[in-house]
Amino acid sequence: MNNRLYGNLIFELSHTGRRGYSLPRNEYKHNTSELASGLRRESDVELPECDELTVVRHYTNLSHNNFGVNDGFYPLGSCTMKYNPIINEEIAAMPAFAAAHPLQPVKYSQGMLRIYYELQKSLSELAGLSEFTLNPCAGAHGELTGLMVIRSYHESRGDTARTKVLIPDSAHGTNPASAAVCGLEVVEVKSLSDGTVDVDHLRQLLDSIGSEVAAMMMTNPNTLGIFEPRVLDITSMVHEAGGLMYYDGANLNPLLGACRPGDMGFDVMHINLHKTFSTPHGGGGPGSGPVGVRKGLEQFLPMPKVVKATSNNETELVIEWEQGCGTSIGTFFGNFGVIIKAYTYILSLGKENIKYVGPLATLNATYIKEKLKDVYELPINGLSKHEFVFDGLKDKSTGVTTMDVAKRLLDYGYHAPTIYFPLLFHESLMIEPTESESLETIDGFISVMRKIAEEALADPDMVKTAPHTTPIGRVDDVLAAKQAVLTYK
Ligand SMILES: *Cc1c(COP(=O)(O)O)cnc(C)c1O
Repeated sequence: MNNRLYGNLIFELSHTGRRGYSLPRNEYKHNTSELASGLRRESDVELPECDELTVVRHYTNLSHNNFGVNDGFYPLGSCTMKYNPIINEEIAAMPAFAAAHPLQPVKYSQGMLRIYYELQKSLSELAGLSEFTLNPCAGAHGELTGLMVIRSYHESRGDTARTKVLIPDSAHGTNPASAAVCGLEVVEVKSLSDGTVDVDHLRQLLDSIGSEVAAMMMTNPNTLGIFEPRVLDITSMVHEAGGLMYYDGANLNPLLGACRPGDMGFDVMHINLHKTFSTPHGGGGPGSGPVGVRKGLEQFLPMPKVVKATSNNETELVIEWEQGCGTSIGTFFGNFGVIIKAYTYILSLGKENIKYVGPLATLNATYIKEKLKDVYELPINGLSKHEFVFDGLKDKSTGVTTMDVAKRLLDYGYHAPTIYFPLLFHESLMIEPTESESLETIDGFISVMRKIAEEALADPDMVKTAPHTTPIGRVDDVLAAKQAVLTYK
């Protein structure tokens, strides 16, 4: 940052009485406030007072301190930070979409309802399931919705003993969190040393608590990027015990064009539109986590749903608002902007090209893995799909950790991969390039990762004190979390 003036807090740039613009004086005499005096503030709010140009520069400069997919390579495993094509934004920003009101008459909403309807259908087709709701607003929100669908299904059969959810120890943290929020008890299923589900352990669990199992939550390829070879055994074992199979489809990339959760025996799933179908995400949103179900579970999905209705020989799209698994879980139609972007993404790839998404995501990840595995520790040397995990540098003698490698990457203009997750290894470094990166970008990343491995040997202290080029160096994460300072004094 060459201009420190704009690196400060906006409060520090404040000068009493300074204004961005001035409003004409109120010539009307009715200056009375409608708020009762007891409800009014006794003193003014302490807001920063700045001229407009200072505000614009302040926020523009702050935004340059951020790193996004549009700045550079962002190989964050389990997050699918793929390129968001510009056409997605242009279409979502069209006034007819951006300014639409959720309560505007159906007659004037046919175009939007068609997008909704066709995305419901496309996702069902891609997932091999019967029906999707587009209502939930994030992946975790979808998980909660899906678990509510599962609970409603069991309750509808009068089976109230099913209060447990089986979750592999490699699962994404939102899985157990969503189960707990849904009032269900989490039971962990162990992984084998190759990272796949320990089917013998699953068998033992089902033998002892099978009649209490509401569902098993899984993702496949799993969090280590490995396709579960015994997925069909797993789904049929859980079904035999009376439970349902939930598929965490946050990162559906590797499957697109290759196989479908419905065909593997999953009953309920969510998809993160904001990962699999582009849309920039991070910092809390915006997201969309549609939930799909197999045939026979449709009535448990939350509303709204867009359906075709024919009267007087005319077909029209209408909205059904009746309740499914309890209540509509998001407001109105969910995050409609994200829905439009996903729809645009699917249409612009088309049926001919969408089938390359999975294979290319897998090829890119595998290429990186093979080019780096002589200098980074590969704990599981099996076939992997769209992402994989290293366990830090191969040469551990230098004391250079995964954290150090991640920080040093920033100096070279790359966002770090996911670090210290999954928890199965001490120095996890989880890399997911996505299908949208070019060979040159990927080769650039590989050469920087190799360079850092060399630096770790030649000058470990330099790597341990990285980053050296960013506006701030290392923050004390623990202190920041334990003693969060959230207000300006
Ligand atoms: C991102 C992710 C989630 C959660 O999605 P959010 O939109 O962040 O709530 C769940 N599972 C997996 C595997 C993920 O990668």
